[in-house]
Amino acid sequence: MAEFKECETVFQAMDDPAHGAKPKVYKDGQYSDPLFKKLSKINGEVNKLTKVELQSKLKEFGLDTRGLKDVLRKRLKNYYKKRNLQKSHMKITGKTGYDYLAVIDFEATCEMNNPHYRHEIIEFPIVLVDVDQMKIVDRFHEYVRPQLNPTLSNFCTKLTGITQAQVDKADTFVPVLERVELWLQSQRLGQEKSFAVLTDGPWDMFRFMYYQCQESSVEMPAWSRVWINIRKSYCNFYQCGRGGIETMLKNLGMQFEGSLHSGIDDSVNIARIAIKLLNDGCCLTLNEQIQIKENPHDNKREVRYTMYQEPRERRCIKTDSDSDNDGENGRRRSNGNHSDGNRGNISRSGQIEVEGWGECDGLEGRLGNMNVKEDDGDVDDLLNYYRLQKT
Ligand code: AMP
Ligand code: MG
Repeated sequence: MAEFKECETVFQAMDDPAHGAKPKVYKDGQYSDPLFKKLSKINGEVNKLTKVELQSKLKEFGLDTRGLKDVLRKRLKNYYKKRNLQKSHMKITGKTGYDYLAVIDFEATCEMNNPHYRHEIIEFPIVLVDVDQMKIVDRFHEYVRPQLNPTLSNFCTKLTGITQAQVDKADTFVPVLERVELWLQSQRLGQEKSFAVLTDGPWDMFRFMYYQCQESSVEMPAWSRVWINIRKSYCNFYQCGRGGIETMLKNLGMQFEGSLHSGIDDSVNIARIAIKLLNDGCCLTLNEQIQIKENPHDNKREVRYTMYQEPRERRCIKTDSDSDNDGENGRRRSNGNHSDGNRGNISRSGQIEVEGWGECDGLEGRLGNMNVKEDDGDVDDLLNYYRLQKT
């Protein structure tokens, strides 16, 4: 039990209020299920594998072998996790608390080297990802006619590929936003089907959407005030440095498809990254929001983006017993705090709820001497494999 006490300390340290989150105390019993000891042991062994060894193991299981070592490690750990959960008759019912991800990457008017330029949205794409099917199922795409600066700079056309003719024949922002709302309604999004906006960085909503709504005198829709910043999710999950779409794809061993800085192509490529993350077991949760503070004294507005923490009931994956007793409407329930760490918690009904695993990495390997009572096939398999490689 000593090791789990250490894990408890790790979790408490991570939840330190200095980092903005509420302190949490995890009880010993929550991690005492043999399955979690076993998963820790497996992770410890996976950590010892070289890149070539990881690729060979992934190949053996018919999994994608592309990407950085950190990516491959995470993929293999997730494979073992899923396999063991399934073996224990637990079913993973979802990869995020949402049915759909609406991937949005705006293009806007711009000038070279002008940081104070007032950007206006000129391309409004939405690529819809079905989380259960882990695939792109639909898209919305319209160009938008700018009003403050109706003539595009050469720099802008060169960067985005958007021509003057395309924006000239497009509608202005407000009617386009109305059609976006109709499109969301036609998909039953925000009604029977839940969805979360997903973007590459905070700027799409915090900068382009906020200022465009201000400029067009429309209220910023509630769905656009909170979003998943995939850069954050990506680097927390794979534990690698932050970067844009091209870097994220490169680290996954993938290539950009289409033209960079085309809003629709950027959105499709961000969706491809999101799907890869879902496939590799990342729980994508809302992580950023816009905050608008009005100062009654000087009538000034302070606008910033901050970390967002999902309400407890939406936070992450819940694994269920064999039967589909997910509650009303099949809505997912959740537990835990960190989107890409893995926590085990035996619920009152005896079901095990799981959320990520990565943050207990410091513990991995230290569980080597623990007495794992369950079938240890995977651990033995890895140990044999590891020994074989050494000889
Ligand atoms: P992106 O999503 O990277 O394609 O960029 C979105 C928008 O940001 C573009 O449509 C431009 O308005 C602006 N932008 C991107 N890169 C630059 C740049 N190097 N200089 C000025 N504006 C830029
Ligand atoms: Mg773009």
